[in-house]
Amino acid sequence: RFFYDTDADLSIIRNKKVAFIGYGNQGRAQALNLRDSGVPNIIVGNRDDEYKPQAIADDFKTVSITEAVKEGEAIFLLIPDEDQQEIWKEQIVDHLLPNATLVVASGYAVAFNLLELPASLDVVMVAPRMIGAGVRDRYVAKEPYPCFVSVEKDASGKSLETAVSIASALGATRGRGAVESSCREEAGIDLFAEQALWPAINSCFIEAYKVLKGAGFSDEAILFDMYMSKEPSEVFERASTVGFFKQLKYHSKTSQFGQLRGTKNNDGTALREKFEKVLHKDILSGEFAKYWSNSLAGGAKELEDLWKETESQPLQIAENTLGLHKE
Ligand code: NDP
Repeated sequence: RFFYDTDADLSIIRNKKVAFIGYGNQGRAQALNLRDSGVPNIIVGNRDDEYKPQAIADDFKTVSITEAVKEGEAIFLLIPDEDQQEIWKEQIVDHLLPNATLVVASGYAVAFNLLELPASLDVVMVAPRMIGAGVRDRYVAKEPYPCFVSVEKDASGKSLETAVSIASALGATRGRGAVESSCREEAGIDLFAEQALWPAINSCFIEAYKVLKGAGFSDEAILFDMYMSKEPSEVFERASTVGFFKQLKYHSKTSQFGQLRGTKNNDGTALREKFEKVLHKDILSGEFAKYWSNSLAGGAKELEDLWKETESQPLQIAENTLGLHKE
């Protein structure tokens, strides 16, 4: 199901006092869009850090997170997913107005039960599928952008109308409209891409580099042909505009033949089995969320170690040796 501008009653969000918790990538873009859509009462709750002067320069009343929560009828939780559990527990949950609406832009914390949700709270997701700069630029240019909308908890019986009103005020119900989804679906697909799809793609590049290097080809030629030429980004750009397979028609006949034949001859069974395991056993079971929360609580040392290990990847060493990306 899609939601369009014509489904939205903008007066719902215009009549609420809105508190933005976090004024980063999404926070700033969404706050500016809501104001330009005629939402008059917006406050920003942020810790006293680098984003605060920006909120003040943009002419928003800026207070602490807890102060903003105390006033907010709609609470936009726009701090990084990995910090939401702690900030919610320590600075938000005990200060919520009765009958407030929590608005998340990502399904993670709600899907994996990281937030204690009071009975009277409405919970909706309005999740733009693009970075904050895109959310703002598209709004200003009156262009559509993809966005997921869902109701996760409907204490008032009016959460869907609120969610659609917010999506419309953000400019997300134009064109093809906002897509009805859920926190579980949004987080599931997002984490699957991060933990299954992209690791598989990364492994393809790592192994391809080793095979080509083993054949005596030069680092310069391999890296420039594989990705420094930006060919992969052009392929994905065309995949989104003309179609995943149809973009192949922009390649030579030899390339089309090689790609279609090679794809047909690839047995995807092992990969699919691995993908199933990652999706069901790790992600949807909540195991990953638990594991990552514990790792974060312990200072995320494993992430640091992974970065260190990556430095010894042959592909990374080749990039360093060629001095391709100066820090
Ligand atoms: P950013 O990292 O850009 O912004 C973070 C904001 O949260 C900043 O204002 C920062 O303030 C504050 N913050 C960070 N850590 C803490 C903390 N420990 N305590 C208090 N405040 C903190 O985040 P995003 O805008 O990228 O993400 C916000 C939400 O939007 C997430 O749920 C994300 O999944 C979702 N989202 C993000 C998209 C993206 O492209 N980035 C796309 C769609 C959804 P400070 O100045 O103090 O650092």
